[in-house]
Amino acid sequence: MSRVVLASGNAGKLREFAAMLADAGIELVPQSDFAVTPPPETAVTFIENALIKARHAARETGLAAIADDSGLEVDALDGAPGVHSARYAGAHGDDQENNARLLGELDGVSPERRTARYRAVLVYLREADDPAPIVAEGTWEGRIATAPRGDGGFGYDPLFEMPDGRTAAQLPAEEKNLLSHRGKALSELRRRLDAYRDRADHD
Ligand code: IMP
Repeated sequence: MSRVVLASGNAGKLREFAAMLADAGIELVPQSDFAVTPPPETAVTFIENALIKARHAARETGLAAIADDSGLEVDALDGAPGVHSARYAGAHGDDQENNARLLGELDGVSPERRTARYRAVLVYLREADDPAPIVAEGTWEGRIATAPRGDGGFGYDPLFEMPDGRTAAQLPAEEKNLLSHRGKALSELRRRLDAYRDRADHD
């Protein structure tokens, strides 16, 4: 079992990631267990922000690290809120305020132009200065509803509508994990880690 630090203190993410990686011989420890405080996410791309977080956690702990960065891209808003998803309504904006701003920006936009996707990028670093990070990405296509529905999930889930008409906030957690951008990125990361390990075993 190798110990890997997760560059997040979010309990939901830890549960989701740990479940997916447990039988890959990885014991995931949240960075909050080492009192690592998150660095500022200053970059303009998901991948750079994930690298900043993973490198910081690896440097502070001396362990391999996994980080993720994710957000919502709305086509009619040229990809906004994107990397600014968490703080769309301002530095102290919460989920409700972010959703209110999104609805306001899309006021009068027709249903067929309300297409959107969630995007997640995951990064695995063997050490802080790893020159060859393992990177995995996942997307989830949907559209933005005109009013929130459902009380599961978090963030923009009450507004993120799937082709079958349900919002992400109306899905049981297990179903969301199968369909979601993060779920897909995690399976991809898992596949890449297994392939990397197989190669290392044969070297
Ligand atoms: P981060 O990846 O933890 O920095 O999250 C970025 C932001 O994107 C979150 O605060 C949410 O606003 C949004 N987001 C990312 N993934 C999801 C999701 O699965 N559901 C709802 N909102 C999400």
